[in-house]
Amino acid sequence: LPDVSALNLKHWELDAERHQLIVTVSSTQAVACCPLCQSLTGRIHSRYERTLQDLPLAQFGLTILLEVGKFFCLNET
Ligand SMILES: [Zn+2]
Repeated sequence: LPDVSALNLKHWELDAERHQLIVTVSSTQAVACCPLCQSLTGRIHSRYERTLQDLPLAQFGLTILLEVGKFFCLNET
């Protein structure tokens, strides 16, 4: 997960029948570092959702829906 200070809790839902806690969070990260050239960029290309499964929370399974941004690298080389 990204740093917790860059996450926004958008929604949570407890599905008692399926024993699932579903939490939707979005990243508020405004700047990212390119994994290839390490340049910083704030230009967001698009947003997409990742589904993460985590260890059970009490008797409930935990699913995290994480919305993150995909950034453009502005380094021309
Ligand atoms: Zn780059």
